[in-house]
Amino acid sequence: MLKCAFRRRALPARVVQQRWATTTQQPFPPDINEWSHPPTNATISDEEIYRLAAKPRRPLTLADLVKHGKPPLRDAALLSSANFTLSLLPSRLAHRIQALRNLPFIVVSNPNVSKIYNNYLHSLSTLEPFYRKPIDSIEDEMNFTEAMADLVRTHSNTIPTLAQGFLQCRKYVEPAEVTRFLDQHLRARIGTRLLAEQHLALHMASTGDAIKQKPDPTHVGVIDLAARPADIVRRCEGFVAEVCEYKYGVRPSLVINGDKAAEFAHIPMHLEYIITELLKNAFRATIESGNEKEAVEVTIASAPDVSTTKLESLKKLSVNNENSYDFSQEGLDEYCSDPDDPMGSLHSAAPCITLRIRDRGGGISAETLPNIWSYSFTTFNNEEAAAIANGGYGSDDSDGLSVLSNTGADQSSIAGLGYGLPLSRAYAEYFGGGIAVQSMYGWGTDVYLTLQGIASTQQIREAPNGFEE
Ligand code: ADP
Ligand code: MG
Repeated sequence: MLKCAFRRRALPARVVQQRWATTTQQPFPPDINEWSHPPTNATISDEEIYRLAAKPRRPLTLADLVKHGKPPLRDAALLSSANFTLSLLPSRLAHRIQALRNLPFIVVSNPNVSKIYNNYLHSLSTLEPFYRKPIDSIEDEMNFTEAMADLVRTHSNTIPTLAQGFLQCRKYVEPAEVTRFLDQHLRARIGTRLLAEQHLALHMASTGDAIKQKPDPTHVGVIDLAARPADIVRRCEGFVAEVCEYKYGVRPSLVINGDKAAEFAHIPMHLEYIITELLKNAFRATIESGNEKEAVEVTIASAPDVSTTKLESLKKLSVNNENSYDFSQEGLDEYCSDPDDPMGSLHSAAPCITLRIRDRGGGISAETLPNIWSYSFTTFNNEEAAAIANGGYGSDDSDGLSVLSNTGADQSSIAGLGYGLPLSRAYAEYFGGGIAVQSMYGWGTDVYLTLQGIASTQQIREAPNGFEE
């Protein structure tokens, strides 16, 4: 496959056309003549990008995210969170820029892909003033928090934009290459977003109005120490049923059985994303097969060896030390066996929760089954799918992570982007879980979603790609 270094400045269509013709000896693809390129005001130098991208990156763990303590944080803890975030983000962003530069020339020439590339250049440029010296004043920390808010905002609409870009390049790139890039890129994005969102959440909960409110005993930034899958399923069901009512005029029903009281430490935002996507698939199949009278069944199981006492005691610890920086220092050291791995003993007792989402929607045909994990693969009505990829529906909805806090069912669609299964699997695997699909064609589908409360360090080290960022 033709490779070419990505250009930092916007390339005029004429140059793209000439290069294409000279390097491939083939006529220039006609639809690319219309491509225009968004300009960039990024100031970061190529040398700096190479330097940062070459730095070793290590996996992000949930333990990293809770180690600064529980909000409201003291100034020192807030500064340490900012410096920790800053120690990881620039090299991760630089690595993404390199990966985008290494895409085939025809892909990076696409305005949608180039928009994403410019977003990364912009975000890395905004971080440059901060990483020259440690953040040591609250004023710097506030400026840094603003940069984090900008980063989350800038990258919020990535999924539909990337999806549209890769669809436009589909004719010219190997599907396997697209899948490989997207999988790596979107997994890496989970990490960068999480780092920025965690610092933002810790900052917000430690300052302003939040401090006047009663501290929330179970939250450490974006992590809920007592996330209850049954409650999340009910919230997602409400949202997805509304989308169905809007699109099909019917709401399938859903029953939950098994361990409805199961709870563990996880990131509700991620769980909401995954469960919403799986329920959308189950509800759509149920309705389209004309079986809407058959309820979708969600069964919850938590691993029998789960030490709920450990979870209880961690929660108690967080309540006792709610104003204290000791949460991750003395408190956790005392609680856990290995001071170098503050969540170590919790890892070994990490609750593993499995959800089985069972529908009677007719299952998946043998022809469709091999494709369901490919980005952009969908059996949804083609015209509607194209409208979705073009931003006709839910384009502000980013990747649906904020789907439940968004108002209005028109912010989302039942299907069509073909990202639901592969991206949900990426989210589940990020912290040691997974998704398996078992179809009974002619009857229905079982989807097994396994979630690890706090992944063991061992698992993260052994996991295939995806954890390196
Ligand atoms: P989308 O929902 O946008 O089509 P997904 O990645 O969520 O993308 O799903 C890809 C395809 O997998 C769907 O279009 C559908 O053909 C199939 N699929 C997924 N879940 C189910 C299910 N529960 N029942 C039947 N088909 C399913
Ligand atoms: Mg889907």
